[in-house]
Amino acid sequence: MVAKGCGEAMNPEEFGRRVLEWFDTHGRKQLPWKENPTPYRVWVSEIMLQQTQVATVIPYYRRFVARFPEIRTLADAGLDEVLSLWAGLGYYARARHLHKAAQLLRDQHGGEMPVDIALVQALPGIGRSTAGAILALATGQRQPILDGNVKRLLARFAAVEGWPGQAMVLARLWDLAARYTPTERVADYTQAMMDLGALVCTARRPVCEFCPLAIGCVAHAQKQEMAFPSPKPRRELPVRAVRLLLLRSTTGEILLERRPPVGIWGGLWSFPECALGVDVTEWCRERLGLTVAVEPPWRVLRHSFSHFHLDITPTPVRVAESANAVMEGERFVWYNRLDSKQLGMAAPVRQLWTALTDDLLNDRNE
Ligand code: SF4
Repeated sequence: MVAKGCGEAMNPEEFGRRVLEWFDTHGRKQLPWKENPTPYRVWVSEIMLQQTQVATVIPYYRRFVARFPEIRTLADAGLDEVLSLWAGLGYYARARHLHKAAQLLRDQHGGEMPVDIALVQALPGIGRSTAGAILALATGQRQPILDGNVKRLLARFAAVEGWPGQAMVLARLWDLAARYTPTERVADYTQAMMDLGALVCTARRPVCEFCPLAIGCVAHAQKQEMAFPSPKPRRELPVRAVRLLLLRSTTGEILLERRPPVGIWGGLWSFPECALGVDVTEWCRERLGLTVAVEPPWRVLRHSFSHFHLDITPTPVRVAESANAVMEGERFVWYNRLDSKQLGMAAPVRQLWTALTDDLLNDRNE
C-alpha cells in the first residue's frame, strides 16, 4: 500500500529552497567531476559511483578522464585498455557498457551526448535515473533523479509504504522526485539530493537533526525513519512435507538410515523417511521387512532450508522383533543412546533422537 497525501504538506518551492540552502553550506562541491562538468565527465562519474563509494571512485575517475578526456578517445580505445583502467572497481559490465555507448555516440551522434533524455536512456548501461543525472548535472535540464539514496530519502519524507522494487511504489517515488525538482539551479539541487541521501538521510542512522527537510518529514514526525523504505519482501518458501519413522525394537534400539550422498542431509544419519500418504505398516513390511505397530504421530516439526521449509511428521513405530532379528549394514543401523559410536545427524534429527530416547527412558522408569 502506498501512502497518499503524506509528505506533501511542504510545497515544492519550500522543499527546493531548503535543499539548496543546505547545499550552499554543506554540499560536496570539491568533487573532481564538478570541475568542468561536461555530460561525458558526469556520465563517467555516475557510472563509477553506481556501486562504489565516492572516496574509492576519485582516483579511478581522475586516471580515466586523464587517459580518455572525451567520448571519442574512449570510443577509439581498445576494450582491454578501458578494462585495465577499471581494474579494482569491480562490476566490469559497467566499463564494457561505457565503452560500447561511447562508440555508439561516436558513430551515431557525432561524439556528443544527446540532450534528449530518451536518447540518453537508450544507451547501454544508462537507466532513467542516470540519464536524468547526466542531463541535470551537466546541462541544468529539469530532470528528476531517483538513485538509491534519493529513493530512501523520499520514501521517508513522504512515508511511502512498500518496497521500491514494486512498480506502484517506484512510480510514486518518481512522481515525488519530479514534483520536487525545481526549475532553477537544477544541477545544484540534484547534487544536493544525492549528498543529503549519502550524508544525512543515511540507511542505518539518519541524522534528522541536521536535515533541512525534517520539518516536513512524515517518517521523522512519526519517529518511524527506519520503517521506510520497506525492505524487499522475503519470498514465500515452498513447503515439503515428509514422515520420519521413529522405529524402535523390543530391546530399545532405534533404526537409523544413512541418507544418500546428495540431497538434504547428504550422508548423515536420519530416521527412515516415507511419504505422508502411504500406509506405514505396509511400507515397513515391504521396504524394511518389519512387522510394526504404528503409534499416533507427534506434532509437526518445521525445519527451514534456504529454499524451502520441511515439515516433518515424526511417527513412532514399534517393531515386533528385537533389533538382532533385522537388517544392519552400510545403510541401516540399530542404535541406542549407550552406543559408543558417534553418528552424524542433522539438527532436527538429533532433536527427534533426543526426544525419542528420553521417551524410552521414561517408559522404562514408569
Ligand atoms: S528528517 Fe530524517 S528521515 Fe526525514 S528526510 Fe531528513 S534525514 Fe531522512
